[in-house]
Amino acid sequence: MAQSRKNFVQACAAIVVSVVLNGAAWAQNFVATDTQSVMQSINDYRAEHETEIIKDFAALLSLPNVATNLSDMTKNADHISTLLESRGFSTKRLSAGGAPYVYAELLNPSATETVLIYAHFDGQPVQEENWVYPPFEPTLLDAPLQSGGQPVNIDDVEGDFDPEWRLYARSAGDDKMPIIALVHALDALRENGIELSVNLKLLLDGEEERGSPTVGRILEENLELFDVDLLLFCDGPMHQSRQTQLVFGVRGGRTLDITTYGANRPLHSGHYGNWAPNPIMNLAYLLTSMRDETGRILIDGYYDNVATLTELERAAIADMPDVALLLQDELSVHTPEGAGTRLEELITLPALNARGIVAGGVGDKGRNIILSNATVSLNLRLVPNQSPERVRELIEAHVSEQGFYIVHEDPTNEDLRTHQKVAKLDWRGAGGPGLRTPLDHPMSLRLVKLMRTISPELIVTPSMGGGLPLHAFDTQLEAPIIVLPLANHDNNQHAENENIRLQNVWDAMSIYGTLLATFGEM
Ligand SMILES: [Zn+2]
Repeated sequence: MAQSRKNFVQACAAIVVSVVLNGAAWAQNFVATDTQSVMQSINDYRAEHETEIIKDFAALLSLPNVATNLSDMTKNADHISTLLESRGFSTKRLSAGGAPYVYAELLNPSATETVLIYAHFDGQPVQEENWVYPPFEPTLLDAPLQSGGQPVNIDDVEGDFDPEWRLYARSAGDDKMPIIALVHALDALRENGIELSVNLKLLLDGEEERGSPTVGRILEENLELFDVDLLLFCDGPMHQSRQTQLVFGVRGGRTLDITTYGANRPLHSGHYGNWAPNPIMNLAYLLTSMRDETGRILIDGYYDNVATLTELERAAIADMPDVALLLQDELSVHTPEGAGTRLEELITLPALNARGIVAGGVGDKGRNIILSNATVSLNLRLVPNQSPERVRELIEAHVSEQGFYIVHEDPTNEDLRTHQKVAKLDWRGAGGPGLRTPLDHPMSLRLVKLMRTISPELIVTPSMGGGLPLHAFDTQLEAPIIVLPLANHDNNQHAENENIRLQNVWDAMSIYGTLLATFGEM
């Protein structure tokens, strides 16, 4: 293409992108007025019912919810089913040998589309001794704990609750909040005579913190329930800037432990140094052959299938708040990896991370020996179009090319005697691919448009860096998957003193209610 024509095409693409992504262009249509009045109704309702909402939330949070305790999880599921049934949902308990899932639906005969909301009600195990307030005795504090927050008695509060106050309990941020925000948003709509514009289905997971081991079977065995138009995955912390965020993808992952070998027993490094093969050094050479200092993976063909970013995805990343300098300062990082590419773009690429090395001892435990073996554990982050099987083939081909004889069990003496270099590759689990819902999918465009009227500063994130258990949904459901995280980023999820900021609960109510009341009419 001639340069001038190319520039023209690029300019047009940029205009299209900016019209699609620019919130201001959308603010002036009928939806905006609709959403504003619905939001107002919900906020007014909430202001009248704050005590009741917080108490309802505290009651749910007081139920212990470690996924392996099936009797506790059944109590949670019963409690949640009661909350939902009293709002007109029909509910069903789904299970495939693990903790229970709660499925619920609230159908609207005049709606033509169905939105499925996913959240989970199990939580990470707790170490009570590390919590300032007991994890299952929800405690409202008048400021974050680290700023000296003091307990507030919910019944003593007159008027509004300060939105910066926080409720402390296991699962306050991850992930019981959507359930409470949703049921109270529905109450607000009903009291104001506002109908849902879509059919609403919920899938509430009782074993997410264990990796949702049975979700694939749950979906497969109940596929008729999941014929939906959009899956909203409501889990995880929102952006550090506290701006509302939609996330359109996740990375997948695989884990690989590689062990290299020396002689079949440790040898004196004085007597044998320069003669005995050194497994630590061989492992180091192998690792540096796999990845350069910027994080670029050097394995042949590794990027061949990687989905490149679309124009819309690039534009969305360019619009995201750039947190690099803040992070570098906070984390004392002089030069990030990535050769100058933005963090938000780097996490749309495959990554090969060494997450641990075990070999010999250091410091007081150091011995002057040449070891028999050394092991590295690699965490591979995968992106769309990279299959875990193909990644395995490429890595095994690369390790062979470096002169290693590959085994998958411990090598025998015969293996070590007859091959110059031996590496054991221990693939841990099958892993899963990444996924990205296209930003120009009609559901994506509609949702972004609607969310911009609710929250003009909306951050559109093509992919988060980590994973979520989306693979089963992606393979079983036709519907596009979009992640809507609404917990404060500093909610201490998985750790002690987990909490939710009240403003995040209020915002979640407003977002769920407005979305359900208007999405079907867009
Ligand atoms: Zn979660």
